[in-house]
Amino acid sequence: MVYSDWRHSRILRCVLCGGGAEPHFGFCAGCARDLPLLEGACHTCAMPLPPVIPSPGAQCPNCLSRPPAQVAAHCAWHYGFPVNQLIQRFKYEGDLAAGHSLASLAAETLAHMAGSLDLLIPVPLHWRRYWQRGFNQAQLVADTIGKAWHLPVLPRGLRKCRSSDHQQSLDRRQRLRNLTDSFAVSRDVRECRVGLVDDVITTGATVEAAASALLAAGASQVIAVALARTP
Ligand SMILES: [Zn+2]
Ligand SMILES: [Zn+2]
Repeated sequence: MVYSDWRHSRILRCVLCGGGAEPHFGFCAGCARDLPLLEGACHTCAMPLPPVIPSPGAQCPNCLSRPPAQVAAHCAWHYGFPVNQLIQRFKYEGDLAAGHSLASLAAETLAHMAGSLDLLIPVPLHWRRYWQRGFNQAQLVADTIGKAWHLPVLPRGLRKCRSSDHQQSLDRRQRLRNLTDSFAVSRDVRECRVGLVDDVITTGATVEAAASALLAAGASQVIAVALARTP
């Protein structure tokens, strides 16, 4: 089934356990409860903070010492079981129902931030990766969230003009510079509050580089939105 069909069909069985009557966005009530909500995370990079009841707006030591380009980062879940398995099914096995269910539920979980954004732009894949995978998972997530939040999505607002796979030899500053230069903004984002959408925030370097490129192109602010955050 192609993605466009999925968006218009109801998911009748739980994407996790295969059971459940009337699943909500593809999750039965029990499985939805088991998803590891991300709470108490750094406001700007979504890194999980130690469980000392952080105040809203708390930041991790990295962001405190060097504020990132994005003003905030919001992820629905920890990248832990079973969210990690669903995202892997989505990305590497083409299980679009899993991705669509997660994105729909994330849109509901993070709905409070919809009013802070003017438009959504997915983190792009380099064309070679896109060609291998056949779809950009971030774009599918952005499409689903944009529909739920009634926000326009600019699928090619950012382009990845250079692969950044081989930069292990560089230090952090060089890596960020290299990454930032690898994104090109191809739509007018001036004065826009941009929601930068990805499936998973891992190191935060990609989000920060893409956010820097958007700010350099005139975006008024960038907020990162993702399904999950790795610790
Ligand atoms: Zn279930
Ligand atoms: Zn942080």
